[in-house]
Amino acid sequence: MRRVDCVQIVEAVAKLCSEINIKLNPGVRNLIEEALKKETSSVGREILYQLLENAEIAYKKKLPLCQDTGMAVAFLELGQEVKITGGNLYDAINEGVRIGYKREYLRNSVVRHPFYRVNTGDNTPVIIHTRVVEGDVFNIYLMAKGGGSENTSALKMLTPAEGRQGVEDFVVQTVSNAGANPCPPLIIGVGIGGNFELAPLLAKEAILKSGEQKDKRDEDRELERTLLNKINRLGIGPQGLGGRTTALAVYVNTFPCHIASLPVAVNINCHSSRHGKINL
Ligand code: SF4
Repeated sequence: MRRVDCVQIVEAVAKLCSEINIKLNPGVRNLIEEALKKETSSVGREILYQLLENAEIAYKKKLPLCQDTGMAVAFLELGQEVKITGGNLYDAINEGVRIGYKREYLRNSVVRHPFYRVNTGDNTPVIIHTRVVEGDVFNIYLMAKGGGSENTSALKMLTPAEGRQGVEDFVVQTVSNAGANPCPPLIIGVGIGGNFELAPLLAKEAILKSGEQKDKRDEDRELERTLLNKINRLGIGPQGLGGRTTALAVYVNTFPCHIASLPVAVNINCHSSRHGKINL
């Protein structure tokens, strides 16, 4: 049994909070650089340049990439042969976020109750999802999720007869409805299958694990390309000012589902897609 102490978890999470908020994810940076080569609109190109410049300034001055430093979402992969010592795992993750946000003066963006909107003052609670896996691996995927893009995300329970066409139409319509609100260019996670609660998790996980796509099915990759092309034909463009780069990437994640169901969820992320991984 491998032991991981809560003190290690707190410090690693605190460090990752600062890293993801201040340093543009290298994968996202590559996508912006690639988009620049293809963008035909001069305004669109100028905005993409500005996004890269913004990232440079944020990194050099240790400032957040965006004023909305997001609500923290953690996906844990916890090996059956790992023993957490020195406290409660979820408390440690919350403490890590508390310290990380305070240390870097990141904005606290969480309110205590949906109606009585008093700020919790430390950007907690963290939304935590845990998957128990084999072996002694312990991975923490962390996302700082902005509210503007989360608000434009959507779920629909399609019927099986609506099929792939229904999925494509819903994804493209969701992005079209969002317009400029989620600060395009976007990173889009699509969860297909599972059930009412799993499909949105699949969509979010698709973004969080986008760097680890080696065993993805060819059909899913083909669907990603099709969706990206359709979305980029909408013409919304960077910051909604027109152009071909409405989205930088679409990531699809699928799961078995009920014979009577075809759930589909779209999780929209802005260009400031802040996420990272710790392996402890
Ligand atoms: S959608 Fe993204 S870039 Fe826009 S304000 Fe929110 S976090 Fe910032």
